[in-house]
Amino acid sequence: MCSILGLSSYHDVAPTLVKSLKKMEYRGYDSVGVAIKNESDISVRKGIGKVNAVNDNLHMSELSGHTGIGHTRWATHGKVTAENAHPHMCNTDSIGVVHNGIIENYVELRQDLEKNHGIIFKSSTDTEVIPNLLQIHLEKSHDVKRAIMDTVQKLKGHYAFVALFKTGELVGVRNHEPLILGISSNDLLLTSDVVGLPENISSVIYLENNQFVIIDKHKHEIFDFDGEVAQFVVKTIPKNYQNITKGSYAYFTEKEIFEQPKTILVAGEENDYDLKKIVEFIRDSDYVYVTGSGTSYHIAVIAKYLFSRFAEKKVEHVMASEMKYSSRYIIPNSTLFAISQSGESADILESVSIGKKKNAKILSMINSKNSALARDSISSIGLNCGPEIGVAATKSFTSQMAILYKIADKLCDGCLAIDFKIVSDAYTKMLSNTSKIQELAKSIKHIENLFVIGRGIHYPIAKEGALKIKEITYIHAEGIAGGELKHGPLALMDSSTYVIVINPDDDSYVDNASSVNEIKSRDAKVIGISNKPDPNYDYWIQIPTIREDLYPLIEIIPLQLISYYLALERGIDPDYPKNLAKSVTVK
Ligand code: GLU
Repeated sequence: MCSILGLSSYHDVAPTLVKSLKKMEYRGYDSVGVAIKNESDISVRKGIGKVNAVNDNLHMSELSGHTGIGHTRWATHGKVTAENAHPHMCNTDSIGVVHNGIIENYVELRQDLEKNHGIIFKSSTDTEVIPNLLQIHLEKSHDVKRAIMDTVQKLKGHYAFVALFKTGELVGVRNHEPLILGISSNDLLLTSDVVGLPENISSVIYLENNQFVIIDKHKHEIFDFDGEVAQFVVKTIPKNYQNITKGSYAYFTEKEIFEQPKTILVAGEENDYDLKKIVEFIRDSDYVYVTGSGTSYHIAVIAKYLFSRFAEKKVEHVMASEMKYSSRYIIPNSTLFAISQSGESADILESVSIGKKKNAKILSMINSKNSALARDSISSIGLNCGPEIGVAATKSFTSQMAILYKIADKLCDGCLAIDFKIVSDAYTKMLSNTSKIQELAKSIKHIENLFVIGRGIHYPIAKEGALKIKEITYIHAEGIAGGELKHGPLALMDSSTYVIVINPDDDSYVDNASSVNEIKSRDAKVIGISNKPDPNYDYWIQIPTIREDLYPLIEIIPLQLISYYLALERGIDPDYPKNLAKSVTVK
């Protein structure tokens, strides 16, 4: 959530900052702002809306100065207003701050600053205490490093922030939220994500928790919160993370859906060693807990079906945000397999720290191999699907699923023997003619409720399909296990209700026929996703006939497409759905 940036350069920084903010917008997009240091002071421009619109209005990119900070916000504390947009300045206007995360004790800090230091707050954010604390501590010590150390001692919560001092220093602080230092001969850039790096920067240092960096006169020094000089490793970022464009597609979501014939072929294939390691740890464990949030939680549910069926492993799926309420049941010699696209989600990092306390071995599956989750794991496997920008997970989901199949296959000594070319070809076929789904989207664009049903392993796919629909179309959608219809949801069926039935020709087909009949008897409309036609379907979305156990990998594609085309029909930008952000780094 939120992107924070800081740049020190030999050139004007505002144009680069605005460009990088645009690239980082997927992390938060309710408001945006920059603060640039010029010869005499710090100029701030900020407003509500997306980067281009605010820049058109306020000309942020035209500010001149060689050091600056920038922010795109996903509000946690305080409404979406221009006053609450970042950067926030201290009362003397000498320090500006952009912040990602939450200052948990901001109410008491604010009261103390008001009462004992006469600070007048201009926003209702938790953030504004930071520049004021920095300023008060700087006044005492006249030393930027000391001021940072004194300030972080006062702050509780998970946060990263970048502070710009009128005296020219730029400081980045990391405590459980991501912060990366990019280095080139001309520029030093602090960023929440490598996606924000300009093309000329490919060398980076990932700051560790409880570290801060001081950038002054094109030099950088990294310290821990006790002021000791910290060790660091410089890494090189792959090119495909630095120049992400939509290509010929209208939206990132569309591009990422249509990339799947390629990404499914390389899922987890960056390094065969990683897959082997994960399999060894799972094989040697008595119990496997699989955890994730949102789409990654659906993957955790799929893992239970696959690992227990093909590898006879005892598997439990736990929602990452629920881990602290179930942790007492983590039994000895367990593995906690944590799944997250970004590897920075606060809920997943918390669930991992709980698992560690219970001595579970931490494994992970992530898209960013340099993320906090990777560093917290004894072994991790990368999705290898390239950056995913659309807020709704699409290609990362199918890559995660493909990796689960690969793990299951290795656990059962090759019993699955999957040729992913067949899956890729099925994707190409479904994506090459989407006209039927576009027609469907047109005809149901007015609906307010939609149900998606599936049985067995198709149930988590139904949940994932419903999540996509909710996320990018704002239609209320529910994923239901087919057998549960009669235990409640049938009460909601009438002639205005639409139900998507995931109905491939496998062992769930006969049971689904009963569900379809129950739905039709209540006059509701059935949209069948199946390789077989059925006269009971009001709409039939055909999927290719494929090996029975591979249907979960392909039936998600029409659900992604229905969501995408419905979003367009309803006039919604699928890349930036309201109230959501890609990487959920707050609890
Ligand atoms: N708590 C800060 C705010 O509401 C930052 C939010 C975030 O990181 O998402 O402005």
